[in-house]
Amino acid sequence: MLHLKKIAIYHILLLISTLFIYADESINEISIELKGEMIKNNNYRAGCPVKIEDLRAVSVQYYGFDKKNKNGILVVHKDVSSDVVRIFDELFAIRYPIKQIAPIHHFHSSDFASIEADNTSAFNCRKATGENSWSKHAYGKAIDINPIENPYIFRNGNTSHKNSVFFLKRVHDKNRKDDQAVLINGDEAVKIFAKYGWGWGGLWNGAKDYQHFYKLEK
Ligand SMILES: [Zn+2]
Repeated sequence: MLHLKKIAIYHILLLISTLFIYADESINEISIELKGEMIKNNNYRAGCPVKIEDLRAVSVQYYGFDKKNKNGILVVHKDVSSDVVRIFDELFAIRYPIKQIAPIHHFHSSDFASIEADNTSAFNCRKATGENSWSKHAYGKAIDINPIENPYIFRNGNTSHKNSVFFLKRVHDKNRKDDQAVLINGDEAVKIFAKYGWGWGGLWNGAKDYQHFYKLEK
């Protein structure tokens, strides 16, 4: 009888912990402080194609390159915030390593500086690379993951970042400790995004953007 009780308690605890994983406490409205930082660093300004009230700060746990569990904030559109919680839960569960996660205003909203730091980020009020239209990042509906290991590769096969040169060749090389961060079609991490209806720049024709995942519009 005592044993059954123990099993019942175990199941209740399991249920509660599952509810916590999917509860919304990891999704927060943009605080006054965060809004101030975003504006000060030119990450949010008049003319951005999304209302700041429609953005959310999503707190995610990730597995670091140093094999330590870490936490970071991704600023995303409210419509994709629960997707982001689930996707990053799954990435954490498979131990997909991430160098670091910080909002782009930590890099004065410079996409180049964020990439140089191999930083994973989402919202950025900017135009698409090489285009005049808004990037999906400007709506908070795109995420760039481990951008050094997963570079934007121009049609001519080049990258703008010298530390990405090694990663122009898209292969897994188990001798490198950052190898697991490399995203190749068929990888579990890529499949996780696809499962939630996110497209991937690694599948584009011409220029390829291996770091770039974006919510597909229905
Ligand atoms: Zn991107």
